[in-house]
Amino acid sequence: MSTQGSGTLPSADNGTAIEARDVRKVYHLDGLEVPALRGVTLRVDEGEYVAITGPSGSGKSTLMHLLGCLDRPSSGTLLIGGRDITRLGDADLARLRNSEIGFVFQAFQLLARTPAVDNVALPLVYRGVGRAERRRRATAALEAVNLGHRMRHRPTQLSGGEQQRVAIARALVTQPRILLADEPTGNLDTTNGEEVMAILEHLNRESGVAVVLVTHEAEIAARARRLIRVRDGLVVEDTAVDRTATAGRTAVDKTAVDPTADSAGGGAALRAEVAGP
Ligand code: ADP
Repeated sequence: MSTQGSGTLPSADNGTAIEARDVRKVYHLDGLEVPALRGVTLRVDEGEYVAITGPSGSGKSTLMHLLGCLDRPSSGTLLIGGRDITRLGDADLARLRNSEIGFVFQAFQLLARTPAVDNVALPLVYRGVGRAERRRRATAALEAVNLGHRMRHRPTQLSGGEQQRVAIARALVTQPRILLADEPTGNLDTTNGEEVMAILEHLNRESGVAVVLVTHEAEIAARARRLIRVRDGLVVEDTAVDRTATAGRTAVDKTAVDPTADSAGGGAALRAEVAGP
């Protein structure tokens, strides 16, 4: 997917959606240092479909926050579209986040009394897009998640699955390079969860947006084309799944990551090629 840069920021498109190089994050809590990420190196290319799993407290949310530029690493380098964002000022970082990254959260985070179409258009307000164009793009985004018939409905008038689909439309209305979803089915029953996953997967295939989702549900993680397992602040496994394998079997190229190895460039080297569907 080709994405325009944000005007003042030079674009450095190279097929990489997002890259972390030896990223560390230490929280400071009551005078204590909590090492949440202890040197993560990974690369996600445009169009990939990646699930991140790991036990509670392993650093998944911290990693998502850093990949989404919602927080800054204590050390290491983060690149979006090949561009080093580590030294960007707050305003440039916010602009980059708005244009390159879409977020989907477990709790939807929609404005409860605002119609679906206006919820979806909100990121375009921050981008200074005119009203008519906002409406046009928000309508198209809602149609893309099969909610063209729910434009004026408020979130309270929609099912959980429909609300999450509105959130997906909002995440994609800016045509981001990457969509980050934190437990997107965590608040949904099986049927609604399936509906949301099907939409995410359809959009990944059709628009080429890279999808990275955090989940603790094995069935959800198993649907991705690449699995990243995090433990104690480290990537301990990076597995590419080739769904073109025949005879009902799925070939798995499983790479156990040696966290003690020199991490420079390690993620890129470890990243196995993922075949399309
Ligand atoms: P996960 O998403 O896998 O449950 P987190 O990224 O939330 O893991 O947390 C990783 C580690 O960092 C945990 O030990 C957690 O307690 C700690 N942590 C997370 N956020 C903060 C914070 N804001 N302040 C202090 N410690 C934090």
